[in-house]
Amino acid sequence: MENAVDRIPRELRNLRACLTCSLVKSFDQFELNGCDNCDWFLGMKGNRDLVYDNSSTNFDGIIAVTSPEDSWAAKWLRISNFKPGVYAVSVSGRPTNAILREMRTRGIPYRSRDRST
Ligand SMILES: [Zn+2]
Repeated sequence: MENAVDRIPRELRNLRACLTCSLVKSFDQFELNGCDNCDWFLGMKGNRDLVYDNSSTNFDGIIAVTSPEDSWAAKWLRISNFKPGVYAVSVSGRPTNAILREMRTRGIPYRSRDRST
């Protein structure tokens, strides 16, 4: 059974941020458990190619969020509905067209996580 500690990056190398929710974990954690918020439609778990496609090493600023529903920072980052964890403030890049299509099909709004512009 996975708990919140499994969601915290164990090492600072190889960190990646999810392109759809900005959760930050190591490559291995994404490959092992997928994204805690998005994997039901991303399917990164056990699929290295999808981890590469759907997460980015190009991100700025990380914040740890313990109770997203009460946190002003989580509201500002639009992650209030997500799981506690470590999140990037800004993530560069876009999900692939296949993923954007998948999200549209499932009625999930896509919001760019890029705050650098
Ligand atoms: Zn995600």
